[in-house]
Amino acid sequence: GKTPVTLLGLGAMGTALAGTWLAAGHPLTVWNRTPARAAGLVAEGAKGAGSAAEAVAASTLVVVCLLDDASVGEALAEADLTGKDLVNLTTTTPDQARARADWARDRGARYLDGGIMAVPPMVGVPEAGGYVFYSGAAELFEQHRETLAVPVGTRYVGADAGHAALHDVALLSGMYGMFAGIHHAFALIRKEDIDPVEFAPLLADWLAAMAQGVHLAADQLRSGDYTKGVVSNLGMQVAGTPTFLATAEQQGVSTELLLPYFDLMARRLAEASGDEDLTGVVELLVRGE
Ligand code: NDP
Repeated sequence: GKTPVTLLGLGAMGTALAGTWLAAGHPLTVWNRTPARAAGLVAEGAKGAGSAAEAVAASTLVVVCLLDDASVGEALAEADLTGKDLVNLTTTTPDQARARADWARDRGARYLDGGIMAVPPMVGVPEAGGYVFYSGAAELFEQHRETLAVPVGTRYVGADAGHAALHDVALLSGMYGMFAGIHHAFALIRKEDIDPVEFAPLLADWLAAMAQGVHLAADQLRSGDYTKGVVSNLGMQVAGTPTFLATAEQQGVSTELLLPYFDLMARRLAEASGDEDLTGVVELLVRGE
């Protein structure tokens, strides 16, 4: 038969995950701090547990999807984790994940940490491309791979329990930089007779084309040669920054999103060659400057 699953946490994400295991025929035990949220799943065949400890006792494989690391500690405080396979899909920092892995091992459990690269509507929809980064106990991952792949795809990124969270946060950090650029671009055209809906595909296509630059940057970082394959060099780009700042000012738009990055570009140019790519900025960031 299918592997029994216990799931703690029936928020938006937990509820979406739970539905896929039920639909795939896995015996499912659920627990939520606010019991009312379990009613729908219980009506569909899940077993509702009266406490987190009772839910943990019901299955070897215990998946946790709670608000934050503190809520995981609280929810599992009374549970006996001896011999359990604990899979923590709660978003945390890498250090919190590592500490939680030690905590789980001290209580006799194997531990796998996850970072969910999906929103609830993508769960159970393979075409949507969502997945979870996993790191920690490789044997746990191998043993439960099929069960873990039921809600969304899986990507194991190593034995260091913090690496799933690190991958998750790194991708989302890249996203916030992109959002910042998108918002600045819309702000520039906002007061003009330019339809944002007509402008949007131009911006989206440009960003998609420029996103390919991550591969060149990776190549430069691996070799340590920031002049490798340069198309638009740092000297030229720094010379162009006044145009971007003046345009923002002419449009009455704040320069606050552009300035920190332009500042890093100028500082890199001051210490390195203008023939480099923008990738040399990573050096400044890694030095914490
Ligand atoms: P929700 O806010 O919808 O649900 C939070 C859940 O945590 C609820 O089940 C809540 O219980 C429970 N909870 C909060 N505090 C405690 C506590 N002290 N003790 C026990 N239970 C507690 O969040 P989501 O379901 O959306 O998110 C869950 C996790 O998934 C988060 O770490 C989030 O970052 C991650 N995630 C979410 C995504 C999303 O798009 N939603 C995307 C990627 C990751 P109660 O019902 O009693 O309040």
